[in-house]
Amino acid sequence: KKILIAFGTRPEAIKMAPLINEFKHHKNKYEVKICVTGQHRELLDQVLDFFEIVPDYDLKLMKSKQDLSQLTAAVIEGMKVVLDSFNPDFLFVHGDTTTSTFAALAGFYAGVKVCHVEAGLRTYNLSFPFPEEGNRQLTSRLAYLHFTPTAIASTNLLKEGIDPKHICLTGNTIIDALLFAIEKIEKNKYLQIEDLKQLISQERPVVLVTCHRRENFGQNFEQICSALKHIAETNDVQLIYPLHLNPNIHDTAHKIIGNVKNINLIEPLAYPTFIWLMKIASFIITDSGGIQEEGTALGKPILLMRTCTERPELADSGLVKLVGSDPKGIIDEATILLRSQKRSQSVAIQSSPYGKGDSAKQILNVLDTHIL
Ligand code: UDP
Repeated sequence: KKILIAFGTRPEAIKMAPLINEFKHHKNKYEVKICVTGQHRELLDQVLDFFEIVPDYDLKLMKSKQDLSQLTAAVIEGMKVVLDSFNPDFLFVHGDTTTSTFAALAGFYAGVKVCHVEAGLRTYNLSFPFPEEGNRQLTSRLAYLHFTPTAIASTNLLKEGIDPKHICLTGNTIIDALLFAIEKIEKNKYLQIEDLKQLISQERPVVLVTCHRRENFGQNFEQICSALKHIAETNDVQLIYPLHLNPNIHDTAHKIIGNVKNINLIEPLAYPTFIWLMKIASFIITDSGGIQEEGTALGKPILLMRTCTERPELADSGLVKLVGSDPKGIIDEATILLRSQKRSQSVAIQSSPYGKGDSAKQILNVLDTHIL
């Protein structure tokens, strides 16, 4: 059978990498080709390097000042050419990006069976600007197989009328990727990690910060920056913030917190460096999905700068606390965590609602049964 795996952003690449590597053990059964849209360029390439993935097709779609509609049109057109040329039986897409949804639509139009990895996440909040929720709901309408990370996600799909035979609970491949990265970090020396060690204080607690979501652009992000400034100026702490390249984030952050004591704004980190940093952080302030999944697997408390979540299992676990973008909420909760913790030590992986790191294997097992 012919398999096409399409993705375009950093988180999709990280979560698809274990699946791509698993397919390599089944070359007798599957002919696999990788298509990247390049929705994120530099961030995507860092991940491809680390996981040693060489795409067969690269649509190179990233353009400055491109809006979502223009990107959508480009993904559909670009994917059509690839689908026509390779003619796959199954198309794998991941999550909730413009790439995944509109690659899925192109696959659907071409009569290819679409397999959605990390299916069934929901906030049911479709108000502007939440493109991710719209994207993942649309993909669920188009997909043939739905690989869900949790029972909650499976239940969401069942309630939406999806045939239970096509909903497959397989955990989240992020745990596979995390275990792979931890093992590689232990075995190899990474220059970027060595450089970062020079920057990191030995005495002060390290707080890792990231922010990139559309819902936090603009005034919300200015408030977030003012909260970070307050935390950094009033505590003996070190905030390390690898900045997303999106100009809405990058330029505002430099303006407001570019020169604040105890804050280090740095470039986006390669995946192994980022995992290393998560391991030594006392806690994490973020609006990211993947970082919540990895951070909690490493036992790190997380302040989530959002007002809703499609990962209720993490909020229920007590490790993730929703603080929104209001400075008071962020500052109060950070202060509590700073008071309750000393500098955190490197930690081992803990039990996670997303499985034990064998999701890619499970997905392949399911696929095997569907091609019989
Ligand atoms: N990540 C990384 N380098 C960084 C920041 C994040 O490799 O400087 C990884 C992180 O470990 C996680 C993924 O990128 O696996 C999360 O991506 P992002 O926060 O951009 O997207 P989301 O998960 O919210 O879709």
